[in-house]
Amino acid sequence: MPDEAPIQYRALLQRHGFRFSKAMGQNFLINPTVCPRMAALCGTDRHSAVLEIGPGAGVLTRELARLAGKVLALELDRRLFPVLEESLAGLENVTLLQGDVLKLDLAALLRTHFDGMPVTVCANLPYYITSPVIMRLLEERLPIQSITVMVQREAADRICARVGSREGGAVTAAVAYYAQAQKLFSVSRGSFLPAPNVDSTVIQLRLREAPPVEVADEAQFFRLIRAAFGQRRKTLANALSAGLGVEKTAVLAALAQAGLPADIRAEALTLVDFARVCGALAL
Ligand code: SAM
Repeated sequence: MPDEAPIQYRALLQRHGFRFSKAMGQNFLINPTVCPRMAALCGTDRHSAVLEIGPGAGVLTRELARLAGKVLALELDRRLFPVLEESLAGLENVTLLQGDVLKLDLAALLRTHFDGMPVTVCANLPYYITSPVIMRLLEERLPIQSITVMVQREAADRICARVGSREGGAVTAAVAYYAQAQKLFSVSRGSFLPAPNVDSTVIQLRLREAPPVEVADEAQFFRLIRAAFGQRRKTLANALSAGLGVEKTAVLAALAQAGLPADIRAEALTLVDFARVCGALAL
């Protein structure tokens, strides 16, 4: 792509009479250094494809299109399409699709649009669906190599925490089962239009080829993890008994079988511990 005058996104949106929707998590990036950095770090190249969620006015999409072989961008808000047609004009390796990332058939889309190319995900995620989007991308075992996304700082802290630490939660354990998570860089709230109330962090999840622990039934394993963190203030025994509807004596027996103390709390367990408790409870 030849170098050209940078697009003035604020003016572009104004010209289209665009009004930001809080409900759709619309905080658009206006700091010109962030998107090139994200695109470079997402690990794409001319032989790979990128799935972008929520292109907004197309600021990150343009940077991805410079590096990737193909970009598929899924945008929920129809009002942005005239804006995107302008900002992405002439980029032949970009396909825009209207729809809800939580409802579209992503496996079919990747098959149709990318035809076996290596795929990464790169996005400035709408914050109201951060965890559901990440969990959907992981749980469906889509053929993707990594997920590089901007999320609220607190969400990044939680997702990238160590399993078995105070900062960890259900999402930490679930993400760690599928991927290796790391923080890449921080982005201040002033980098967005409109500015949100919190700062953000770009994180990267690199998908594992195989889970780090063996579990007989993944659905039950994740049910146990959700129940364990459902009532963080309680001991694990009480949280599991209440959350899973299992007698407390049975939970205590399972903890003992897994070699864990009766008064342990969810935040102290590693993935291996969770797998042992799950096996011992025979869920
Ligand atoms: N990528 C742009 C940027 O960095 O400036 C916009 C990011 S903004 C935080 C999130 C984008 O996701 C918005 O364009 C919003 O309309 C879109 N969005 C919100 N909910 C969505 C959904 N369920 N499916 C697809 N896109 C969605």
